Amino acid sequence: MKCLISQLCEFFYKCGWAPGTASGCSIRIGGPDVNQPWRVFVAPSGVQKEDVVAEDVFEMDMNQNVVQKSKTSGLKLSASTPLWFIVYKHRPKAKCVVHTHSMNAHLATLLDPTEKSDVLRMTHLEMLKGVGRYAYDDTLEIPIIDNRPTEAELAEQLEAAIIKYPKCNAVLVRRHGIYCWGDSWEQAKTQLESFDYLFECAIKMRQIGVDFSAVPSSGTFHVRDSSSQATKKRKIDEVAQSSSSAVSGFNGVGTVNNLSDLADRNIPLLPADSSVLLLDIEGCTTAISFVKDTLFPFVTENLDAYVKGLDQMKIKEYLCNILTDIDCTSDTNVKSQCKSVVNSCKDEPQKLKAAVRKLVELDVKATGLKAMQGHMWKSGYDSGELKGHIFADFKPLLLWCKDQNVKVCIYSSGSIKAQKLLFRHTLEGDLTPYLSSYFDTTSGGKKVASSYGNIAKSLGVHPSKIVFVSDSEDELVAAREAGIGFPVMSVRPGNAPMTDVGKSFPKVHSLLQLCGSQQ
Ligand code: ZN
Repeated sequence: MKCLISQLCEFFYKCGWAPGTASGCSIRIGGPDVNQPWRVFVAPSGVQKEDVVAEDVFEMDMNQNVVQKSKTSGLKLSASTPLWFIVYKHRPKAKCVVHTHSMNAHLATLLDPTEKSDVLRMTHLEMLKGVGRYAYDDTLEIPIIDNRPTEAELAEQLEAAIIKYPKCNAVLVRRHGIYCWGDSWEQAKTQLESFDYLFECAIKMRQIGVDFSAVPSSGTFHVRDSSSQATKKRKIDEVAQSSSSAVSGFNGVGTVNNLSDLADRNIPLLPADSSVLLLDIEGCTTAISFVKDTLFPFVTENLDAYVKGLDQMKIKEYLCNILTDIDCTSDTNVKSQCKSVVNSCKDEPQKLKAAVRKLVELDVKATGLKAMQGHMWKSGYDSGELKGHIFADFKPLLLWCKDQNVKVCIYSSGSIKAQKLLFRHTLEGDLTPYLSSYFDTTSGGKKVASSYGNIAKSLGVHPSKIVFVSDSEDELVAAREAGIGFPVMSVRPGNAPMTDVGKSFPKVHSLLQLCGSQQ
């Protein structure tokens, strides 16, 4: 057993989980099953873990008395010793407890930027099978406790977490590391490896804007068979609920391939003196493909019913505005195509529907069409049929900014009315209480430097105090020209690939990468 402890310590050191003299390990044997007294073997404190030898290891009984001291003079018991015994007390089957300072475990405790959560949840990851009695589509819950000046002072919180989460076989310590145990030393070791993989996976998923705690709305998830009808029904309800909360037809990526941009990991932080965060919507808070794959199809799919519900006057008004749009189009090909479909229709409702379909198909941006689309989207949002897409990091960012007194404002080319509609009806509910101001092109074009000066003026702050995040290179260049303190490139799945201009700006894959430098 003593040799095994020294080998495990060396292994943890080689994994990079035991820098300095950090981390520790204990194994227990004996007990009533084998008619032997319990014995707990404990690694010493303050020794480089790659240098621990069998003679350094302490042997203890279950009352925490040392039965056999370390044969190397001057060594002390591991600082985690009281914690080993808490685990052994509450997990009668546990035979090995390990504590490490793995970087991935440490960072996983910071995935909640408020640092208030007491549990880390993840689901739909194959390696969940490696950490105990979990299936791929179960939700794993790992308790998180706050750090304290010494390991021994963690005891009370560790005990409370183990009792609160009877299924858990690991506890994370915020800004510190992990305690993990198994029914054998082999199980403790393989679980630690699997946990580490999962933590790294969660950190990287966050960086590319994927929520590791959410059931994916499409792809590989499935409903497991269960003999109990009640469980089966509950599972089906859960899936129905989760898929209804995900907007239909939206996969978050679209067809644009910008994977090489996403691979580049360069993490900027919000400067400590910035007071305003100005955000673009499409490609920043919200996937670009939400508009293309959800909002536009919503209009064409609901057009018949919508027009049927309109009175004669309203139809006449919409049609008149849209015919003006067509007349004003400079593209002669578009103009002739639209005119020919309109002329082939008999009555006004038919003409209106045909014109809208053609304009949407040809991707024409026009005033009359926009107004009608806006009304249709409003009724969709109001009825709950439409929900505004936001990336999973957006709400945590808003909570963090609220905590830090950073104002969050929106600047988008969509009208202020449309912006408010989207944020009032998002996948995560009404987010308008977290947003301070909205700006659209009435403050000036987004690619024009003076617009950013106008916004700073109306917010009453110096441009240098503003952080502006956008996926548009031209907008970032204009913002930089206007003296905006920190223009940041938003890199999201489905955004247009960056050129060298975009690459010259600091980049974020998740808005949460901006958090953290304030304290
Ligand atoms: Zn520690």
